[in-house]
Amino acid sequence: MSTTIPATLIPGDGIGPEVVSAAVRVLQATGIGFEWETVQAGLVALGKEGMPLPPNVLESVRRNRVALKGPTGTPVAGGHRSVNVEMRKTLDLYANVRPVHTMPGVKSRYEDVDIVVIRENTEDLYSGLEHVVVPGVVESLKIITEKASTRIAKYAFDYARKNGRKRVTAVHKANIMKLSDGLFLDCCRAVAKDYPEVTYDEMIVDNTCMQLVLDPTRFDMLLLENLYGDIVSDLCAGFIGGLGLAPGANIGDEAALFEAVHGSAPDIAGKNLANPMALILSAAMMLDHLGEQQAADRVRNAVHAVLKEGQKLTRDLGGTAGTTEIAEAIATKV
Ligand code: ATP
Repeated sequence: MSTTIPATLIPGDGIGPEVVSAAVRVLQATGIGFEWETVQAGLVALGKEGMPLPPNVLESVRRNRVALKGPTGTPVAGGHRSVNVEMRKTLDLYANVRPVHTMPGVKSRYEDVDIVVIRENTEDLYSGLEHVVVPGVVESLKIITEKASTRIAKYAFDYARKNGRKRVTAVHKANIMKLSDGLFLDCCRAVAKDYPEVTYDEMIVDNTCMQLVLDPTRFDMLLLENLYGDIVSDLCAGFIGGLGLAPGANIGDEAALFEAVHGSAPDIAGKNLANPMALILSAAMMLDHLGEQQAADRVRNAVHAVLKEGQKLTRDLGGTAGTTEIAEAIATKV
């Protein structure tokens, strides 16, 4: 019997609407019925409603408890605050989960990469607490709390336990930020004690970047604060063929929002050039979250099959196929 699942759909900016409709097309092919509530956030909402994150968007996600979101652009140095950061904070979507593993048929520098990045999503330098002290001097506050650090560490170790992962590496700069990153590490160490079957270790963030570039296959799970997590997950996306293949989830106790690691890519927007696979794989993570494991696996297998065949690829992967063509190819295989 088919089920209908209410869910929020946020098309977003730039390539957002294109990759979102591709993901919806693939979800449709699974046979699982979604009752989409489409709401606008980002530049479209700013133009229409005068604000980038209208209250109805948050209400919709709270009500449906699950959302699929296209990227929303954020102006650099000035302009409105990031819709992503606001949503994650307001909805308390504290765990950002970004799995990175080698894709069949995709040429990349390394084989057998299989890393899960777990990034704290609600505090750190993303608190947006910046001010001018005197002209020429600004202060940006890095907030690290015991509560949020313990919560994200627990999430990471629970994830390891549930998914049979062997090792969690906490990434930090506690040699310099002794108090803030020191507190983060204290919390990770305390939580690690409750998971004796998972190996716990620590690595300084700059060294982590070098070790990753030398040999990413020696890592299993990375546990990071917000800013390090953002940077390191983009770095990891590079190991598997780029941002077009890197999915993500933002998980809280009340709601979960699924979106790709990439941004709105204004340089290729509206041209049917975007690779929809990152969002399609994020949609598969959404199916996992909803307990639709089989459908999730079918979607992932379909993406892998299209990649392996190598006949239909977008430009970022060296092909000439368009976003819609890729969506159809994947949907057909689902
Ligand atoms: P934003 O301001 O929203 O972060 P951005 O352009 O700074 O946008 P990304 O959107 O992440 O950052 O894009 C970085 C680069 O990767 C761009 O050249 C973009 O074209 C490319 N890119 C990102 N996502 C995709 C995708 N899904 N398919 C193909 N290329 C992509």
